[in-house]
Amino acid sequence: MTLQRTFTIIKPDAVKKNATGDIIKQFQDNGFRILAIKMLEISKHQAEQFYAVHASRPFFNSLTDFMSSGPIVVLALEKENAIADLRKLMGATNPANAEEGTIRKKWATNIEFNAIHGSDGEDTARFELSYFFAGYELAK
Ligand code: GDP
Repeated sequence: MTLQRTFTIIKPDAVKKNATGDIIKQFQDNGFRILAIKMLEISKHQAEQFYAVHASRPFFNSLTDFMSSGPIVVLALEKENAIADLRKLMGATNPANAEEGTIRKKWATNIEFNAIHGSDGEDTARFELSYFFAGYELAK
């Protein structure tokens, strides 16, 4: 298996809980190499662009309000099988169903305020990485 890149967001709820350090440590302990990292706040409009695939879902307005409600930390990560392995480390969308040892089990509050985003496929990873990072910002 060749190296793969994925994209993740430590969401506003987790940043507010001071979970940032713990979550970054979990990435590193699980073999992910950090290619880029930054903390920023996004606007409602930027959240709508980022989550455009969910535009027709009933929770779209609430989700984009949440994602623009405070600082987030975005990272580009690399490892073998990074996309699937990150999804596994994150745990289920609804923390009530998340396995022991996952980031959402530890830090998520509910199905919406669920601490972390991770790309769900190669195409989304490419789109999401390029939405937040320019090529020159990624480590060699
Ligand atoms: P993910 O890939 O595990 O993040 O889940 P999805 O792609 O299905 O949903 C994107 C995000 O929308 C989730 O991480 C939640 O923050 C939010 N979300 C998903 N499903 C629901 C829901 O049923 N209700 C609410 N309020 N938010 C949801």
